[in-house]
Amino acid sequence: MTDIDHLSRMNACFLGPRSENEAWLRSEMQAILDSWFGWRRDLFPDDPEAIPYDERVSVPFLQQREKLARQISRLTDILRDEVPKHTPRYIGHMVSEISMPALLGHFSALLHNPNNTSKEVSKVTSVLEAEAITALAAMVGYDPAGASGHFTSGGTVANFEAIWRARFRLDHWLSLALYLAEEHGLPLDVFRAAHMGWKRYFELIAMHGVDEGKTRHYSLVASNPFEAASLLSAHTRSPYKGPVVLVPGNKHFSWLKGVSIFGFGERAFWTIPLDGEGRTDVAVLADLLDRAEKEGRPVLMVVSVAGTTEAGEVDPVDRVQDLLDERKATRGQDIWHHVDAAYGGFFASLLGGVGENLLAPGVRAALAALGRAQSITLDPHKLGYVPYSCGAFLARDREAYSVSSFHAPYLDRADLGASVWAYTLEGSRSAAGATAVWLTSEALGFDPAGFGQIIASTIENCRLFAKTLTTSLPFVRTLQPLDTNIFCFNLAEPGMSLAEANRRTEAVFRKFVASPHFSVSRTSLSRESYEQLIAAHMAGIGGAVDADAMVLLRCVFMNPFWASADVHAQLMPEFVAELAGHYGEVSGASFGPAADGGELPRRVDIDEAVATGPAHF
Ligand SMILES: *Cc1c(COP(=O)(O)O)cnc(C)c1O
Repeated sequence: MTDIDHLSRMNACFLGPRSENEAWLRSEMQAILDSWFGWRRDLFPDDPEAIPYDERVSVPFLQQREKLARQISRLTDILRDEVPKHTPRYIGHMVSEISMPALLGHFSALLHNPNNTSKEVSKVTSVLEAEAITALAAMVGYDPAGASGHFTSGGTVANFEAIWRARFRLDHWLSLALYLAEEHGLPLDVFRAAHMGWKRYFELIAMHGVDEGKTRHYSLVASNPFEAASLLSAHTRSPYKGPVVLVPGNKHFSWLKGVSIFGFGERAFWTIPLDGEGRTDVAVLADLLDRAEKEGRPVLMVVSVAGTTEAGEVDPVDRVQDLLDERKATRGQDIWHHVDAAYGGFFASLLGGVGENLLAPGVRAALAALGRAQSITLDPHKLGYVPYSCGAFLARDREAYSVSSFHAPYLDRADLGASVWAYTLEGSRSAAGATAVWLTSEALGFDPAGFGQIIASTIENCRLFAKTLTTSLPFVRTLQPLDTNIFCFNLAEPGMSLAEANRRTEAVFRKFVASPHFSVSRTSLSRESYEQLIAAHMAGIGGAVDADAMVLLRCVFMNPFWASADVHAQLMPEFVAELAGHYGEVSGASFGPAADGGELPRRVDIDEAVATGPAHF
């Protein structure tokens, strides 16, 4: 396939920054509306009309109609001031142009207003939801036949879904052990019990003829958590301190919220220090697991992040899972691994195609290992090009999906399909996101030949942009590694200290905010979490680390239109000039683009230089 074919197919997925595909989108929207109008009209053809013609031309009717028209016109006027996220000039946060399949899927479902909480109010879309979940499960490497999941309002709630289920599992195991200690006088090792695994759980149930209903009394969830905790303390002769959640140092806010909402207390939140590349340090994780074991604190879950919110880095999911597998094999400890792939999960659509060569081997291995984790968070409303609000929670199997009922997951299987509401934190759930993902999957496919091409292109666009900017302006300091399609950099001259670099970077960010031309975002990496990464970055500049955090400008390259040679040719020099201008004002010096009188690199030259693998696919 030629590059041109690839670009043409991608351009058939978006409206275009200047509404290039307006006529086409209009006709598809019209077709959807026509079908909807006709469906309503013809469904019960013998029913009377409720709004007769003479009423529709009456004065009060026309007055009300006029009033609404005025307000709609006001609303559309107001909305012209909304943040323009569709344009390639918007490279700020994790949002951009939405895709046509997603928009049309969302719009179609919206008209029918289904509630996916129950099949009684969503006969069709709850089936579409299951199919869309299957498509996402296949993308991340789960066996679609065994995987379960549902759509949520976003990544935050999907992460809570994981905590809820991990707690359900841990609580079953712990309360059985406590029951056996209380009622059968068996010795109690809290850490071992909390990670016993379902196999051991059912062995114990059978061995001691346990009536599962009776273990409920010892549950920290289904009974009184304070009473159960004091019983645990009494048996082990040391105060039970509750479980810990191990989260990488880049800790998205949602994890702190989760620990707080589920009542574990913020000291249950253990941070896994990051290595020199800003990823989970697996050796330190092993030490933390040992510490938790020594302190008798169950590990509720180990979290890996695939695509951090700051810089898009991908944790070594494979090596974290290797570590947990090894503990399971040698110590019989079954520890839950959740991957927060809210942003980065969609990079898995590259795997198996030539586009995967754009990813560093470690990142590729991490994404290829997603399917080994118990559960995964995805955010279709980020890199899935789907309208808000649409997150997704996926579990590897029915066991990991089980929650809520106190009965054993094996016994509950029959209920899973029927009463979805019992298995989701949210009650009423829109079908719009699920339908948007479904149509994307049908029209494009979450594989290298479809969706993967868009994703591959965004990585190339990002690297080209980063390369051009750094070769044009020497004070642009790229944060390494640039794993995906998020480019972070700060502004510093040789020998400049972190505090001064922060001041300049922050001041330039303020200038971007005040200027209408481009939207970038700002992030800051704390020294507490990113000590090694910051040290490595500042070593490249030769400046002292004299601040508690590193301020970065952040460009998220989700926008597909940077693949256009014309867009790049016009906007790239504009961005270089804008940044140079802002920096000049902030630093008091003058930095013109291409100060050596040379031209900016052309797109085609850079493509060759940037691609870490085959440029054509
Ligand atoms: C965005 C994000 C979340 C939260 O998702 P929302 O959709 O904003 O609720 C969680 N984790 C990571 C890594 C994210 O990037």
